[in-house]
Amino acid sequence: NGLSRHRKIAVVGARNVGKSSLTVQYVESHFVESYYPTIENQFTKQLVFGKANYTLEICDTAGQDEFSLINTKSLIGLKGVAIVYSCVNRASFEIVNLIRDKILDQLGLENIPTVVVANKIDLRENLGSASSSAVVSKAEGAALAKRLGAGFVESSAKLNVGVNDAVLQLLKRLEGQDLEGSNGEE
Ligand code: GDP
Repeated sequence: NGLSRHRKIAVVGARNVGKSSLTVQYVESHFVESYYPTIENQFTKQLVFGKANYTLEICDTAGQDEFSLINTKSLIGLKGVAIVYSCVNRASFEIVNLIRDKILDQLGLENIPTVVVANKIDLRENLGSASSSAVVSKAEGAALAKRLGAGFVESSAKLNVGVNDAVLQLLKRLEGQDLEGSNGEE
Protein backbone atom coordinates (compact mmCIF):
# COMPACT_ATOMS: atom_id res chain seq x y z
CA ASN A 1 0.00 0.00 0.00
CA GLY A 2 0.95 3.66 -0.24
CA LEU A 3 2.10 3.81 3.35
CA SER A 4 5.09 1.57 2.84
CA ARG A 5 7.85 3.01 0.72
CA HIS A 6 11.28 2.00 -0.43
CA ARG A 7 13.80 4.71 -1.30
CA LYS A 8 17.38 4.48 -2.40
CA ILE A 9 19.93 7.20 -1.68
CA ALA A 10 23.69 7.51 -2.05
CA VAL A 11 26.34 9.22 0.04
CA VAL A 12 29.09 10.76 -2.07
CA GLY A 13 31.96 13.17 -1.64
CA ALA A 14 35.71 13.55 -1.45
CA ARG A 15 37.84 10.98 0.31
CA ASN A 16 38.04 11.05 4.05
CA VAL A 17 35.23 13.52 4.65
CA GLY A 18 33.28 11.05 6.78
CA LYS A 19 30.86 9.38 4.38
CA SER A 20 31.18 5.98 6.06
CA SER A 21 31.21 7.47 9.54
CA LEU A 22 27.98 9.38 8.87
CA THR A 23 26.32 6.33 7.34
CA VAL A 24 27.31 4.05 10.19
CA GLN A 25 26.31 6.66 12.75
CA TYR A 26 22.91 6.98 11.11
CA VAL A 27 22.24 3.27 10.64
CA GLU A 28 23.99 1.75 13.66
CA SER A 29 24.20 4.68 16.09
CA HIS A 30 27.89 4.55 16.79
CA PHE A 31 31.05 6.28 15.63
CA VAL A 32 33.79 4.26 14.04
CA GLU A 33 37.29 5.72 14.20
CA SER A 34 38.49 3.72 11.26
CA TYR A 35 36.37 1.99 8.72
CA TYR A 36 37.61 -0.06 5.81
CA PRO A 37 37.62 2.70 3.25
CA THR A 38 37.81 1.20 -0.20
CA ILE A 39 34.59 -0.71 -0.60
CA GLU A 40 31.10 0.42 -1.38
CA ASN A 41 28.60 -0.66 1.24
CA GLN A 42 24.84 -0.92 1.21
CA PHE A 43 22.85 -0.31 4.36
CA THR A 44 19.15 -0.37 5.05
CA LYS A 45 17.26 1.52 7.67
CA GLN A 46 13.58 1.57 8.56
CA LEU A 47 11.99 4.82 9.58
CA VAL A 48 8.68 6.59 9.76
CA PHE A 49 8.46 9.82 7.80
CA GLY A 50 5.24 11.72 7.33
CA LYS A 51 2.55 9.07 7.36
CA ALA A 52 4.60 6.38 5.70
CA ASN A 53 6.96 3.61 6.74
CA TYR A 54 10.18 3.90 4.78
CA THR A 55 12.81 1.38 3.99
CA LEU A 56 15.82 3.48 3.15
CA GLU A 57 18.54 1.83 1.15
CA ILE A 58 21.76 3.77 1.63
CA CYS A 59 24.69 3.34 -0.68
CA ASP A 60 27.90 4.40 1.04
CA THR A 61 30.21 5.02 -1.89
CA ALA A 62 33.96 4.67 -1.95
CA GLY A 63 36.30 6.20 -4.47
CA GLN A 64 39.62 5.12 -5.79
CA ASP A 65 40.27 8.64 -6.97
CA GLU A 66 39.85 11.96 -5.24
CA PHE A 67 36.12 11.53 -4.90
CA SER A 68 33.55 8.79 -5.04
CA LEU A 69 31.22 8.00 -7.85
CA ILE A 70 28.26 5.71 -7.71
CA ASN A 71 28.63 2.15 -8.86
CA THR A 72 26.58 1.49 -12.00
CA LYS A 73 24.33 -1.05 -10.37
CA SER A 74 23.69 1.29 -7.46
CA LEU A 75 22.46 3.94 -9.86
CA ILE A 76 19.31 1.97 -10.60
CA GLY A 77 16.38 3.53 -8.82
CA LEU A 78 18.48 6.11 -7.03
CA LYS A 79 16.22 8.87 -5.68
CA GLY A 80 18.54 11.26 -3.91
CA VAL A 81 22.11 12.02 -2.93
CA ALA A 82 23.90 13.39 0.10
CA ILE A 83 27.08 15.18 -0.96
CA VAL A 84 29.46 15.37 1.97
CA TYR A 85 32.43 17.67 2.45
CA SER A 86 34.60 18.32 5.48
CA CYS A 87 34.33 21.84 6.86
CA VAL A 88 38.02 21.67 7.78
CA ASN A 89 39.09 20.69 4.27
CA ARG A 90 38.44 23.36 1.67
CA ALA A 91 39.43 21.14 -1.23
CA SER A 92 36.59 18.76 -0.36
CA PHE A 93 34.20 21.72 -0.41
CA GLU A 94 35.47 23.03 -3.71
CA ILE A 95 34.69 19.81 -5.55
CA VAL A 96 31.07 19.52 -4.41
CA ASN A 97 29.88 21.19 -7.59
CA LEU A 98 31.96 18.91 -9.77
CA ILE A 99 30.75 15.82 -7.93
CA ARG A 100 27.17 16.91 -8.42
CA ASP A 101 27.75 17.40 -12.16
CA LYS A 102 29.36 13.97 -12.47
CA ILE A 103 26.44 12.32 -10.75
CA LEU A 104 23.87 14.05 -12.91
CA ASP A 105 25.94 12.97 -15.88
CA GLN A 106 26.06 9.37 -14.63
CA LEU A 107 22.33 9.39 -14.09
CA GLY A 108 21.51 11.26 -17.27
CA LEU A 109 19.40 13.70 -15.28
CA GLU A 110 19.07 17.46 -15.08
CA ASN A 111 18.45 17.38 -11.38
CA ILE A 112 18.20 15.07 -8.38
CA PRO A 113 17.11 15.76 -4.80
CA THR A 114 20.28 16.65 -2.93
CA VAL A 115 21.43 17.54 0.54
CA VAL A 116 24.87 19.08 1.05
CA VAL A 117 26.40 17.91 4.33
CA ALA A 118 29.23 19.85 5.98
CA ASN A 119 30.78 17.25 8.27
CA LYS A 120 33.37 17.39 11.08
CA ILE A 121 32.05 20.58 12.67
CA ASP A 122 33.49 19.34 15.98
CA LEU A 123 36.96 19.89 14.48
CA ARG A 124 36.12 23.36 13.23
CA GLU A 125 34.98 24.37 16.68
CA ASN A 126 38.25 23.10 18.12
CA LEU A 127 40.17 25.35 15.76
CA GLY A 128 38.28 28.33 17.11
CA SER A 129 38.97 31.81 15.80
CA ALA A 130 42.51 30.89 14.75
CA SER A 131 40.94 29.14 11.81
CA SER A 132 43.00 28.66 8.71
CA SER A 133 41.95 29.18 5.13
CA ALA A 134 41.16 25.47 4.97
CA VAL A 135 38.12 26.06 7.17
CA VAL A 136 34.78 26.43 5.42
CA SER A 137 32.20 28.58 7.18
CA LYS A 138 28.55 27.73 7.57
CA ALA A 139 27.62 30.70 5.36
CA GLU A 140 29.82 29.44 2.53
CA GLY A 141 28.28 25.99 2.74
CA ALA A 142 24.75 27.34 2.84
CA ALA A 143 25.41 29.58 -0.16
CA LEU A 144 26.72 26.67 -2.20
CA ALA A 145 23.74 24.50 -1.30
CA LYS A 146 21.41 27.28 -2.28
CA ARG A 147 23.09 27.64 -5.67
CA LEU A 148 22.60 23.91 -6.21
CA GLY A 149 18.98 24.03 -5.07
CA ALA A 150 19.96 21.57 -2.35
CA GLY A 151 19.32 21.25 1.34
CA PHE A 152 22.14 22.03 3.76
CA VAL A 153 23.12 20.52 7.10
CA GLU A 154 26.22 20.89 9.24
CA SER A 155 27.15 17.65 10.97
CA SER A 156 29.50 15.74 13.17
CA ALA A 157 29.45 11.99 12.72
CA LYS A 158 31.62 11.85 15.83
CA LEU A 159 29.18 13.72 18.08
CA ASN A 160 26.06 12.55 16.24
CA VAL A 161 25.06 16.09 15.36
CA GLY A 162 23.01 16.78 12.25
CA VAL A 163 23.05 13.17 11.08
CA ASN A 164 19.32 12.52 11.35
CA ASP A 165 18.58 15.98 10.09
CA ALA A 166 20.54 15.33 6.90
CA VAL A 167 18.38 12.32 6.12
CA LEU A 168 15.18 14.21 6.94
CA GLN A 169 16.20 17.10 4.69
CA LEU A 170 16.82 14.69 1.86
CA LEU A 171 13.54 12.86 2.42
CA LYS A 172 11.70 16.16 2.40
CA ARG A 173 13.17 16.89 -0.99
CA LEU A 174 12.39 13.41 -2.26
CA GLU A 175 8.82 13.50 -1.12
CA GLY A 176 8.14 17.21 -1.50
CA GLN A 177 5.25 16.74 -3.86
CA ASP A 178 3.57 14.19 -1.61
CA LEU A 179 3.72 16.10 1.63
CA GLU A 180 1.32 18.67 2.81
CA GLY A 181 2.93 22.00 3.56
CA SER A 182 5.56 21.53 0.91
CA ASN A 183 6.95 24.95 0.11
CA GLY A 184 7.93 24.13 -3.46
CA GLU A 185 11.15 26.09 -3.23
CA GLU A 186 12.80 24.07 -5.97
P1 GDP B 1 35.04 8.57 3.99
O1 GDP B 1 36.32 8.23 3.28
O2 GDP B 1 34.43 9.82 3.44
O3 GDP B 1 34.07 7.45 4.10
O4 GDP B 1 35.48 8.99 5.49
P2 GDP B 1 35.46 8.10 6.81
O5 GDP B 1 34.09 7.89 7.32
O6 GDP B 1 36.32 6.88 6.60
O7 GDP B 1 36.18 9.11 7.82
C1 GDP B 1 37.48 9.58 7.58
C2 GDP B 1 38.16 9.92 8.90
O8 GDP B 1 37.49 11.05 9.48
C3 GDP B 1 38.07 8.81 9.93
O9 GDP B 1 39.26 8.80 10.67
C4 GDP B 1 36.89 9.22 10.80
O10 GDP B 1 37.01 8.71 12.11
C5 GDP B 1 37.01 10.73 10.77
N1 GDP B 1 35.70 11.41 10.94
C6 GDP B 1 34.57 11.18 10.23
N2 GDP B 1 33.58 12.01 10.64
C7 GDP B 1 34.09 12.78 11.62
C8 GDP B 1 33.57 13.84 12.43
O11 GDP B 1 32.41 14.27 12.33
N3 GDP B 1 34.43 14.41 13.34
C9 GDP B 1 35.72 13.98 13.48
N4 GDP B 1 36.46 14.57 14.40
N5 GDP B 1 36.24 12.99 12.72
C10 GDP B 1 35.45 12.40 11.81
